[in-house]
Amino acid sequence: MKYVVLALVLVGVVWLWRHQRDSDARDAAAEAAKAAKKRRATAPPEPPKDIVACPVCGLHSPLADTVPGALARYCSAEHLRQAEH
Ligand SMILES: [Zn+2]
Repeated sequence: MKYVVLALVLVGVVWLWRHQRDSDARDAAAEAAKAAKKRRATAPPEPPKDIVACPVCGLHSPLADTVPGALARYCSAEHLRQAEH
């Protein structure tokens, strides 16, 4: 009789171990999916900006930060004045 009890305890321990291992694997997969989703949410891909080079100094600047001249776009009003006046 004690061998039957021992076998049942052994089966119960193995079942618990396997059940725990499966739920750990599920938790790890869910955690990885959540982390990937968070990374996508916090770091959206930056839209490409138009970058232009100043013909005077060669500095590359976003188009919105440049000063438009008659011949080209410049990094500053000072370089526009140097190039076109
Ligand atoms: Zn410049």
